[in-house]
Amino acid sequence: MSLSYSIVVPTVGRPELRTLLASLRAASAAGPRPFDVVVVDDRELPAEGRNPPLDIGPDPVAGVRVLRTGGRGPAAARNAGWRSVRTEWVAFLDDDVVVPERWALALEQDLAAAGPDVAGAQGQVVVPLPAHRPPTDLERNTAGLESAVWATADMAYRRTALAAVHGFDERFPRAYREDADLALRLHEAGWDLELGVRSVEHPVRPAGDLASVRAQAGNADDALMRALHGRGWRALAGAGRSRLPWHVATVTAAVAWLWAGSLRLKRARSRNGHAHNQGATAALAGSVWAGLTAAFAVQRLVPGPRPGDADFGPELRRMVLTSVLIPFAAVAHRARGMWRWDLGRQVPAWPLPVRAVLFDRDGTLVRDVPYNGDPAAVEPLPGARRVLDGLRDDGFRVGVVSNQSAIGRRLLTSAQVDAVDERVRRLLGPFDTWQRCPHSPEDECRCRKPEPDLVLRAAAELGLLPAECAVVGDIGSDVGAAITAGARSVLVPTEVTRREELFAAPAVARTLDEVVTLL
Ligand SMILES: [Mg+2]
Ligand SMILES: [Zn+2]
Repeated sequence: MSLSYSIVVPTVGRPELRTLLASLRAASAAGPRPFDVVVVDDRELPAEGRNPPLDIGPDPVAGVRVLRTGGRGPAAARNAGWRSVRTEWVAFLDDDVVVPERWALALEQDLAAAGPDVAGAQGQVVVPLPAHRPPTDLERNTAGLESAVWATADMAYRRTALAAVHGFDERFPRAYREDADLALRLHEAGWDLELGVRSVEHPVRPAGDLASVRAQAGNADDALMRALHGRGWRALAGAGRSRLPWHVATVTAAVAWLWAGSLRLKRARSRNGHAHNQGATAALAGSVWAGLTAAFAVQRLVPGPRPGDADFGPELRRMVLTSVLIPFAAVAHRARGMWRWDLGRQVPAWPLPVRAVLFDRDGTLVRDVPYNGDPAAVEPLPGARRVLDGLRDDGFRVGVVSNQSAIGRRLLTSAQVDAVDERVRRLLGPFDTWQRCPHSPEDECRCRKPEPDLVLRAAAELGLLPAECAVVGDIGSDVGAAITAGARSVLVPTEVTRREELFAAPAVARTLDEVVTLL
């Protein structure tokens, strides 16, 4: 049999990526080769200037290609990756794992064993821990990946299953809960998920002293999980008990301590008694806070390095500092999450409905006259005005996302292109957003389609998420920009559309009128 699979690796440019791509080279020499290896570069890019190149190392796996998603998070990066491949299976790997040489062979075994109702097969994650002493808090947290279900550190999904539920929910901004959310939606849709026989190694990455405080941002994502899946989401997602009630108690005691203490100061100044009572309350609240904080620190220290171990001193310092800070960070992030997702409003399910349609200009709305600087040569394509007016009437926002490299190539001035655009608006009516890339390919900018930036800018100007937008265009780079930006896309082919672009497009319409039926 021949296994048809691709590999998708989201990355923020960590040096471990080189190690992974080298290990994949060895694995794909020993087992079935991936059809496609997509590294999704999700670094936030500077607004101006060239895209900084991604270091993929001296000996990466063959056929690797890089997509850029512009810092929209691992959920969005993985979506861009799987939407850009055509194989039946997509294996997601995190950029900080290392695959053993027999990985591809074991993957083949896992996927061959997967029945038609199996949406995904997970690899086992192995976290190497030091043998000479008990693990630190960071090491234990990383080792938690070994028992995490549906972790995307090594998870192969059937592309049809991903398409059926529209992939990862891009409202999850970090590598947290987005994998469990996807698994829950797949289960709800009737798919199974299985644990495979393959494994990957996930070394503990060095992290700053405050990593465990920063990780509290996940409390905001927990609020989104609750809004989407209800109160019982933890049991459904196998998430274990939350420490949040403990943190709330700690923060409450600290606030009571400071409040009673400040009242006591005020009363003492105005000499009207009661200061004694406030003093007792403050002392009580203060000792409750200290007790809860100390207990939290002890809980985290007990399983760790012992006095006498080399790493005991730094770990003790880290645990005391972060045990003081974590409760406040956890409560603040949860409050932020509730404010955003959970204040009695209905949070819409994924996928979000389309609210804006962004059109390519040349070859989609108007006849493609290469490097046209003449307003008189503007000729709307059949149905353009009717379709745009229909969308406007139905409450959709409409926009234009257009590459105009003639400016960067110094064939036209911006003013000439402005005049042509003005003529397009005169003939086709008003647009809610109009985004133009004036660069030439040599500029390596972040906005020339298939780069995502025109679509991202249009969505931002409309106050929408990219997933609420659809891009309509006539060539592969229109579809590519939609995919990397996280928008839907519809290809309306013309004589310049290539066969492979037609084959790769998620949705194809013969006419602009037909586009509306596909939104
Ligand atoms: Mg075009
Ligand atoms: Zn540009």
